[in-house]
Amino acid sequence: MSVDALEVPAPVVRDVIALRRDFHAHPELGFEEVRTAGIVAERLRALGYQVRTGVGQTGVLGILRSQRPGKTILLRADMDCLPIDERSGVEFSSTVAGKMHACGHDGHTAMLLGAAQMIMERRDLIHGTIVLCFQPAEEGKGGARAMIEDGALDDPAVDRVYGLHLTSLYPTGQVLVRPGPVMASSDSIEVTIRGRGGHGAAPHQTVDPIVTSAYFIAQLQSVASRNVDPTEPAVVTIGAIHGGTIHNVIPDSVDLLGTVRAFSEAERAAMKPRIERVLSGCCDAAGAGYDYRYIDRYPITVNDEKEAGYVHQLAVRTLGERRLGHLAMTMGAEDFSFMLQRRPGCFFFLGSQSDERTAVPHHNARFAIDERCLATGVQMMTALALDAPQRP
Ligand SMILES: [Zn+2]
Ligand SMILES: [Zn+2]
Repeated sequence: MSVDALEVPAPVVRDVIALRRDFHAHPELGFEEVRTAGIVAERLRALGYQVRTGVGQTGVLGILRSQRPGKTILLRADMDCLPIDERSGVEFSSTVAGKMHACGHDGHTAMLLGAAQMIMERRDLIHGTIVLCFQPAEEGKGGARAMIEDGALDDPAVDRVYGLHLTSLYPTGQVLVRPGPVMASSDSIEVTIRGRGGHGAAPHQTVDPIVTSAYFIAQLQSVASRNVDPTEPAVVTIGAIHGGTIHNVIPDSVDLLGTVRAFSEAERAAMKPRIERVLSGCCDAAGAGYDYRYIDRYPITVNDEKEAGYVHQLAVRTLGERRLGHLAMTMGAEDFSFMLQRRPGCFFFLGSQSDERTAVPHHNARFAIDERCLATGVQMMTALALDAPQRP
């Protein structure tokens, strides 16, 4: 199947932009994407897809089975927003206080709906089976895992998975593909340091959990700098510390929350005991006790080498060599990693930046995209549907 010059007609581009603006104005948090999922399901049904709703709570699958032999491929878009008050200044800003599409998932959903139309219009050329996967709750709640547990990869049996994310770090319309590990693991730690409270003027009668926390946080930095192989990136960040009430009272306990990132499963597995060793050492020295919880959240996102090479070549054929960029590693994380743990595939990126306004980081209240990138995403998802099922 030829995917060169797979242009997206102007009415489709306008429709995708209108959809994206509508999703942007009506953002929904993870597992609450009722309105978004409703629009998605209605669109897919109108186009002629077999539709499954309520997959992983609010997820939607659109299935197209062709008469020609071929693989079953899954194309994924995430639908959820973030708990942020929008300050981007766009005219289609969030209409809901405290909720904002600040990661580009509105664009992902609109692009895959645009591709849904392009694919259906070319259904005589399609081989195998296409599964369009509209996923809830990417931001921290593991919607991908919920969809997998509800059979998203089994009915129909999916052979390969592909996902796309916008990025404000790269120029609009540039496609970035990287083989191997592409995003970090993301785990959480929850710590309570238990001392014995008392008067701030008589610390000798107490076990001070504030001072112990300070030692722990300072020592924790040595985990990344002294324990982890210096050629392997890893991060430990304490993002919240809560303890005490007033100037002159030493509290009984202090609570800490943190995030742990790694780029290999071996380093990731080693972080849990390393952090506890530092914690128990600091608490021992002070005579304090502790509770320690290490919560596995998202695995490392690992692209299959062959599949990443394939997506790169497909982008060259679809868009031309000069539209391909070089992707740097980041310590961000993605729950598409759960799908890539189970099926070979590729998670790739699409630049959305053209000026200062669209260069704002993701998860920032002023995040914005250059909508000219959306047509490129439609092209890539359509090209995958036309081409990928025919590969051995
Ligand atoms: Zn995000
Ligand atoms: Zn995201």
